[in-house]
Amino acid sequence: MTDKKFWSEKIRGQTPYTAGEQPKIADLVKLNTNENPYPPSPKVIQAIRKSENGDLRLYPPVINESNRFWGNGSDEVLAMAFIAFFSGKRLYAPDVTYSFYPVWAKMFDVDYHTIPLNEDFTIPVEKFCRFDGGIIIANPNAPTGLLLGVNEIERIVATNSENVVIIDEAYIDFANEPGASDLLDKYPNLLVVKTASKSYSLAGLRVGWAEGNESLIEALTVARDSINSYTLDRLAVAGIKAAFGDREYFKTQNEKVIATRERTKDILRQLGFGVTDSQANFVFAAHPKFRGEDLYKSLRKRGILVRWWNLPRINNHLRITIGTDEQMNRLFAALREEIIGGN
Ligand code: PMP
Repeated sequence: MTDKKFWSEKIRGQTPYTAGEQPKIADLVKLNTNENPYPPSPKVIQAIRKSENGDLRLYPPVINESNRFWGNGSDEVLAMAFIAFFSGKRLYAPDVTYSFYPVWAKMFDVDYHTIPLNEDFTIPVEKFCRFDGGIIIANPNAPTGLLLGVNEIERIVATNSENVVIIDEAYIDFANEPGASDLLDKYPNLLVVKTASKSYSLAGLRVGWAEGNESLIEALTVARDSINSYTLDRLAVAGIKAAFGDREYFKTQNEKVIATRERTKDILRQLGFGVTDSQANFVFAAHPKFRGEDLYKSLRKRGILVRWWNLPRINNHLRITIGTDEQMNRLFAALREEIIGGN
């Protein structure tokens, strides 16, 4: 233990988020952090190369759009949103969800409450139709992958008209239904947060954004300009523009991920796993005869990294990011040995 005498009270009391490991192991099959297995559009790299010509001497342009707010990954956008809308206020989230939410809540003095998901991990919509605090829902949810239909999202947003409702759509581009952006014109309390990390294969570039009413975007801008005005660097600005410009590539890559996800669900079910109907770029699975922790550890020994949490309700589950078909075949072979060999 280091000496914490210089630490502020806040930091002493803080339990930070633990990101999935990024180990340097040769030939590792890395299925633990929901990165896209395919590279970004070649146009992104070209645009970044071009943008280097002398511009890095200058601060980046600050992008101020009336209905969109940009940040260094959606994590930063979400952190700003906690500051802008929930500091000192009540916030509700599902009990099983992105584990960064309670961390920001603590950091920014948010009165954070959880609402239990149903037994099958679906969201109990009626319990989120409240009026006494903000709401944050990841849709599809993480780590369950389950999607709430846009009509149900609308019910929640409509009943909470006096509070901000954030829909975190980090994984929406892998879903078989559109997200909540179509509701934005109707509901000034809705903020939809998105990222280039997953469906644009740009986790390393760090670009996320929020879409919402002018007043919400302005509050986020006040929060940002009270911390760091230049959240997107010049390379990120050039890269995201090029990524948005290559719809064809985006569509083809994501269709591949979705096809592999559906194949993965089938094969895991054949192996006896219970698998949620994930609409994200990962699956969430538990085996009735094998402990999640044991499977996680034996896969790790075989050079396959998946995510396991020692948390209530989900400590028997594995969250497995969708990799290439070859990577997934290695996972299936390892699981067959563990499960069929172990019986
Ligand atoms: N929201 C959810 C639900 C996530 O799983 C993640 C990825 N860890 C993020 C937001 C943040 O992604 P990024 O900061 O890379 O945009």
